[in-house]
This record gives sequence, C-alpha cells and structure tokens, in this order.
Amino acid sequence: MNKMILLALLVSLLMPLSVSAQVPDGFFDVQLRTVPVAGRVHMIQRPDGFANVGVFVGEEGVLLVDSQFKPHAEQLLAAVRDLSDGEIRFLINTHVHPDHIGGNEPLATGGVLIFAHDNMRVRMLERRSRFPRGNGGFFPQAPAAARPFVTFKEQLTFHFNGEEVKVFLAPPAHTDGDTFVYFTESNVLHLGDVFRTTSYPVIDVYNGGTLAGTIEALDLAISLAGPNTRIIPGHGVDVVGREEVVQFRDMIVDVAQRVRELISQGETLDGVIAAEPTKQYDDKWGRVASWSEKDFIPIVYHQLGGGSLYE
Ligand SMILES: [Zn+2]
Repeated sequence: MNKMILLALLVSLLMPLSVSAQVPDGFFDVQLRTVPVAGRVHMIQRPDGFANVGVFVGEEGVLLVDSQFKPHAEQLLAAVRDLSDGEIRFLINTHVHPDHIGGNEPLATGGVLIFAHDNMRVRMLERRSRFPRGNGGFFPQAPAAARPFVTFKEQLTFHFNGEEVKVFLAPPAHTDGDTFVYFTESNVLHLGDVFRTTSYPVIDVYNGGTLAGTIEALDLAISLAGPNTRIIPGHGVDVVGREEVVQFRDMIVDVAQRVRELISQGETLDGVIAAEPTKQYDDKWGRVASWSEKDFIPIVYHQLGGGSLYE
C-alpha cells in the first residue's frame, strides 16, 4: 500500500496547485514537524500551526485526523512514516476546507478509508466551494477520490489500537459538518477549526457555520474536557488545555454581547467597527493578517441580525 500512496502522491503533485493561488508566495516552502501530544496521539503541523493533523499510532495501524494542504501531502506521509511503519488505515476529516482535505486523494488512492460527517460530503459535491477569507473567494471542487467513503449523522466510534476513538458532530460552528475527535485513553481532543489559538474564530457562513453554534460547540468541548485533557486546535502552534478553550469561548461571548448592544443602539456596521468591540483581545487573537478583527466583527454583526452582509 505504501507504494500505491507514493504513486498517487506523484500523480497528484503533477496536477495544478489550485489552492496556491490564494496563499502568499513561499507559503508552502516550510517543513512540517511532529509534536507528541499524549498517549498514542501526535500532531503533525506547519511551523505556523495552520491546519494541524492528528496522528493516532498503535499496533493495529495509523488513524489520521485531517490531511493538510495538497502540496504538503508527500511531507505529511513522510512524517507519519517516521512515527510508524504500520498501515495507514483511516482518515477522519473535521470539515470541508482545502487545508484539511488536501491529502485525501493520494491517501485514498493508496487504500486509506476516509470518514466525515454527512454534511461535509454534501459540501464537497458542490461544483465549487466558497470560502470566507478574502471576501468570499472560491476554490474548485475536490476530486471524487478525495470524498469520504463513509459518512455519519451523529457519531461513530472506532475500536482501534486498544482504545475507543469517539467521532461526533459538533453544533454548526465553523461549518455545518464540524467533527470533534476524542481519543478516550490518550485523553486527547481534536477540535478541528472550531477552536484556534492564533486568531478569532472563522465562522464560515458559506458552509453553514454560525456564531451561536460556535459558542455551543465550545461549550460542548469544555464540558467534555477534563483537567488533564490535551486539546489540538485546528489552527495554533501549541497543544493546550481546557482553560484556553474557556478563554476563547468567553472572548467570543463578550464580543457578541458588545456588538449586540451596539446594534440595539442603532449602530451601522461602520459604527460597530469604529467602537472597537474586540480591542482588548486584538493582541492575542487579531494578529493573523488573513483573519483579524476586520473579518470577525462583520460576521458577528451579521449573525446578530445587524444587516445582510453576505449575498
Ligand atoms: Zn477550516
């Protein structure tokens, strides 16, 4: 199977890198690195923590959570191989975005079985997908081989490598197919892009994401996590604990409350932006150029009924 994956990688790398048009020059000229998380779980990540991959390794084989951008597919496979020679059997996608499903096609062609939520597969069937960054750019439909082979409605459980891996739908937060993955013995939770440590939440309204669902989903994660649970953010350099998720949730609730009050006072979007409702948080969550308070505030405003922003 490894030969087949390599062959599939070679074929896929010869195809145009459609996503690369949307990222800065040199974005893919980085080295992926591997970070031990806890128990049987590792994280493979870009140095900027963009789209972290979970890797679950044991005597029965390897299970991956997300598959990075397509241009990183070869590096991702090499990094997994450094952890284990075992068969890569399963891949779970946390959601539909191209930085989380780019490696799907070569992995699937090599025999890896892909799992995701029903809604995520439906989103993948759209002729092209809209994305909130850059005022709603588009990216092309992923190839058929990249689609999940198995989908679920509420939850499923893997009994693999001596532990239960719980996979379940979160409330509609980042998208309407957001999937959390909980490794029960290793005590690791991968929250996909519902949780990020480096920027404000991306609420992808084009793909069913909502503000209310973001708060609900974070509440769910907080209720699941114990004091020793390690949490992999979809985006973020560090593996963190429950407290960081609490801070992120509290920030979103606070910003939403401020914006709600401004709307009730009759403020326009420009007025809300001028009031700087995120000011005290911008140093922590507003420093990623591609997703700052300039992107976050209009979505909060829109989600709270302040006006129709996305047509
Ligand atoms: Zn995403």
